[in-house]
Amino acid sequence: MLTSTSTEVLEIQTTKAPEFIDITEEVEKFVEDRELENGALVVFSRHTTAAIRINEHESLLLKDMADFIKAFARKDEYYRHNDFSIRTENMTEDEVPNGHAHCQSLGMGASETIPVIDGELQLGNWQRVFLIELDHARTRSVILQVIGE
Ligand code: ZN
Repeated sequence: MLTSTSTEVLEIQTTKAPEFIDITEEVEKFVEDRELENGALVVFSRHTTAAIRINEHESLLLKDMADFIKAFARKDEYYRHNDFSIRTENMTEDEVPNGHAHCQSLGMGASETIPVIDGELQLGNWQRVFLIELDHARTRSVILQVIGE
């Protein structure tokens, strides 16, 4: 069989930060619809302040992880990126102070890769895929791409 690729973009509205949005069902449906036998799925956030991570979906744990993220890079620290009196690069009309969100995202990452074996996405029993909003409510783009045969 020939190697093929297939791609879909999810547009996801977030409501707050940090926010864990479980996208596992969308991800699983995407793979099922492709009828891929063996390969890999990439889940990729097109953002510098919204991460993709795999972890357990348990409501108390989600609160623990939200606290961990907030402590990892605190919002009330000084960030040069937030100091609009000295910053000149990449300034936009609706620029918001979000140095903490960039640093939090750096600690997590923008993508996960999940193997597909015999048509099955190889997520472990407790593994769920999350888009993690770190900045503020907005629309986020997540690319799903499978590569395989
Ligand atoms: Zn920024």
